[in-house]
Amino acid sequence: MDIRKHIRGETMIQTIFENVKSAPDSGHLASYIPALANQSKDLFAACLVDGKGEVLEFGDIDYLFTLQSISKVMSFIVAAEHLGVDRILEKVDVEPTGDPFNSIVRLEVAEKGKPFNPMINAGAITVASLLPGETVELRVNAVREYLSKITGHEHYVNQEVYKSELETAYRNRAIANYLKANDYLVGTVEEALETYLQLCSLEVSTQDLSKFGLFLSSDGKFANDNKNLISRKTAQFSKALMMTCGLYNASGKYAATIGFPMKSGVSGGVLCTVHNGELENLNGHIGIAVFSPMIDEIGNSVKGMDFLKKLSDQYKLSVF
Ligand code: GLU
Repeated sequence: MDIRKHIRGETMIQTIFENVKSAPDSGHLASYIPALANQSKDLFAACLVDGKGEVLEFGDIDYLFTLQSISKVMSFIVAAEHLGVDRILEKVDVEPTGDPFNSIVRLEVAEKGKPFNPMINAGAITVASLLPGETVELRVNAVREYLSKITGHEHYVNQEVYKSELETAYRNRAIANYLKANDYLVGTVEEALETYLQLCSLEVSTQDLSKFGLFLSSDGKFANDNKNLISRKTAQFSKALMMTCGLYNASGKYAATIGFPMKSGVSGGVLCTVHNGELENLNGHIGIAVFSPMIDEIGNSVKGMDFLKKLSDQYKLSVF
């Protein structure tokens, strides 16, 4: 089925959205910091943007939420474009772990304590230290500016979220210290940690994320202009990492059941990038994002994943 007919205001996707929205609540709000614990559990938004720049939006699309783990994709891209993918791979592998995002156990068993991939905290804290710039501010700005080029507006760190993240970062600080002890971090432990946590605290809307998904789908091209912002290699690695490691320790399950690259965060957002021959009329490209703050035990948005599964089934979006 051609999704284009639907992205131009068809009712099928609306029906999927409404059905998922009215389903009974399950899951819980992230509770480790007040700003996330106090979000309204009923928030729900979805946005699709196609290769021709057509946008289809549902629900609470103006609501801004923090990227959290989704920032790991942006950090990886900016660091990889700065140093080249191969230099990043000297410090971080690209292997899934099957462990929770903030797990420490693999760092002890991995050869030379090398972090397994950039989509878990150990890898992302390492990547944060490899971003361009000598200070935390410059490194964070490098990612902010990058994001702005794609979304067309400024992005800010939510200071309340950042402050709480920093105050409660016991585990992340332990991970960062372990990485420093094994010589993976550039600069100090605190600099790497502050950079990582500020990036987690950057605010976006659901539409911003869908634009980022489209951008990745087309290997760094904008919808309306053929300029490539990233190398093919960075795009390829980013999407492979999202597919294999993007949904915490449920990544394999969702690769099998939904089948396109995604990255979630504990605030309830999911960034998706679809490139599928079924969508011929769109040159195969579509960016999708969902947001709903009730997450499951693993950390993925319950309604968000439900919507994506139904959408993938309906339009045969799996790459497999
Ligand atoms: N700020 C969170 C942490 O690093 C990110 C959690 C997430 O979205 O996975 O602990």
